[in-house]
Amino acid sequence: MNIIGRITRKVDRPDTAASSFTRQPMDASSSQRPNGRSDFEVAIICALRLEFDAVCLLIDELWDEDGDQYGKVEGDPNIYTTGRMGKCNVVLVLLPNMGKASAASAAASLRSSYPRVSLALLVGICGAVPFAGPERDPIVLGDVIISNLVVQYDLGRALPDRFVRKDTAHDSLGRPNKIIRNILVKLDTDIDREHIEKWAGDFLKALQTKSEEKAKRKRRGKHTSYKYPGSANDLLFHACYRHKHAPGSGCRTCEDCHGNADPACDESLTLSCKELECDTSCVIRREHLESASNDPNADSDSEGVFFFIGAIGSGDSVIRSGEHRDQIAKQAGVIAFEMEGAGVWDEVPCIVIKGVCDYADSHKNKGWQNYAAATAASVAKAVMERPGRWPDQSAGWRSNPHTSDGANSIRIFWTAEPGSPGGAELRTDQRGIPPAAG
Ligand SMILES: [Zn+2]
Ligand SMILES: [Zn+2]
Repeated sequence: MNIIGRITRKVDRPDTAASSFTRQPMDASSSQRPNGRSDFEVAIICALRLEFDAVCLLIDELWDEDGDQYGKVEGDPNIYTTGRMGKCNVVLVLLPNMGKASAASAAASLRSSYPRVSLALLVGICGAVPFAGPERDPIVLGDVIISNLVVQYDLGRALPDRFVRKDTAHDSLGRPNKIIRNILVKLDTDIDREHIEKWAGDFLKALQTKSEEKAKRKRRGKHTSYKYPGSANDLLFHACYRHKHAPGSGCRTCEDCHGNADPACDESLTLSCKELECDTSCVIRREHLESASNDPNADSDSEGVFFFIGAIGSGDSVIRSGEHRDQIAKQAGVIAFEMEGAGVWDEVPCIVIKGVCDYADSHKNKGWQNYAAATAASVAKAVMERPGRWPDQSAGWRSNPHTSDGANSIRIFWTAEPGSPGGAELRTDQRGIPPAAG
């Protein structure tokens, strides 16, 4: 039985049957336990427990099952989990709270305790702009967004009549460094996309199976299901159609809610579209979803997990309005919204990988969160499985995470562990060439 239950979309795939792009499965015997914190180069940061749980299901080996092996610097409040995901040793951090400030503080501490982390993956869930990008590609629930830029859409001035976003070079978050740009350029090629989406589909199945097995072993407690909730539950309403009590329900607040500026009652925020009987004639038809199977247990010709690369809007408030969503998307050019990217981005080179659990409108609910967390975790693992050393760096070389790699950037070559006896930092010229020996 294929429990992935993923929708099927028609995709023009290149013929890559003869490709040498193969994933090298690693078994426990081929892995090497890191000696210390400086052996970790990749971090995975999650804001929610449910995101963290999904990532943990794809960890191949935990390094700290017998207690904390690696410690942390004094004053670092983060709690770390370490392990191996595929061929990468990863350090996992679960943020104590959602939002930019919490993410920035945790990322700064991470840099102190794990100084060689050169890439953080911020993995979890997000709200998407349903028709995004110049081609207005339809993004559906469970798809995954990979950031090529993080935009602080809520940074600016609230004038009496409008909000003016600050988007000068000084106010904006920098563009990703060369390591990240290299990863993203490759991910966007047909050949990489095909493999990553296919592998992510395989990882998603593995995650679902592992979760089911765990549930069977568990004698009590609620089981988290990562199954596809079914395309019949993927409802995209017209942007202006509000989630509120239906006319005639007796709710005065909702009766008086006509425009975007009018409030709906607090109770309506806690109820589902089904409970409120939101008008399904206001649902936007999307052909590829209508032809998909609604049975989460049905066998399907899974194409894997789809991902989109684009700018992600990061802000401290949750977007719950279709009109507001579309307005910001148009102004800031973002394809999704989340709350931690801006905080991490400023501290550690970061790629945001988030599964779409809602459309950032008033109808958003939690029904897709687990599945979206699972698809994001699966794509994150698949991205790390690309051939070659990961993150893409030449052995021994790393860019300074705090500088962009523009024309004036300086690359740093460590001859041994930074800070260790005998460790020496040789500053190189702008082409990254270390000074001649002697
Ligand atoms: Zn109401
Ligand atoms: Zn609704």
